Order: sequence, then C-alpha cells, then structure tokens
Amino acid sequence: MLILKKEFFERIAAHGKREFPNEACGLLAGRDSRVERVYEMTNADKSRATFLMDPAEQLKALKEIRGLNLEMLGIYHSHVASQAYPSSHDVAMAYYPDVSYVIVSLKDNNPSMRAFRIAEGKITEEELKIVS
Ligand SMILES: [Zn+2]
Repeated sequence: MLILKKEFFERIAAHGKREFPNEACGLLAGRDSRVERVYEMTNADKSRATFLMDPAEQLKALKEIRGLNLEMLGIYHSHVASQAYPSSHDVAMAYYPDVSYVIVSLKDNNPSMRAFRIAEGKITEEELKIVS
C-alpha cells in the first residue's frame, strides 16, 4: 500500500500537466508507506511515451532522502495519452522491485492515478490510498 496526501496527488497531476505533451517523472519519499516528500525530476528523454529521470537530479534527491532518514517509496510518471498502467517499456526499465510505480494518466480531463509493483517483469497493482 502507498499512502498519498491529496495535496501530493494534486502536485503530481499538476507536474504532469505542466510537462504535457511529454511525460513528467519524479520520486516519492517517506516512511511506513506514507509519502512525505515529492521530488519533481526532469525527464531526460523529453518524450511523450517514455521517461528517464535526470541522473544527476536523481542522485541529489536520493542523497537528500537518505539525509532526512526517509526511504524512496516510489517513482511516478505521467501517461499523456494512455491509461494509468505500466507500458512494456516501463516494465523493461523498472529496476527497483521494492518501490511503488505510480502512474498518473492525463488521458481524460480528470487525472487518474494507480500504483504498481514491478518485479522480474511482473506487474502487480498496489493499493493507493489518497488521504486528506
Ligand atoms: Zn509509462
């Protein structure tokens, strides 16, 4: 399970809209399944179908997360024209079996968000709890 405050949900959706028509991506940090920080990353792919977090930004964020004694709980990205479900490319690029892959779909006016675990090429949906 991943617990996300509504304000973070809105921030991720806003990030996706800002990067539209390219995919937006970022990191989620926290503890005990509860997200406490959202790190917006630059999509080095600058693509409407894939994302690659800028490696220097990612390293900086991971250092900060460690310094705050938090964990990397998730990686989020947007889908601009498809549903909130991992693409085959997402699965191929999923290197972290222990984090949640959060996808926000901007396909409709109303952004929808889902969370998954991706391990050894297998996708498992995870409960995403939005709290106020
Ligand atoms: Zn994707």
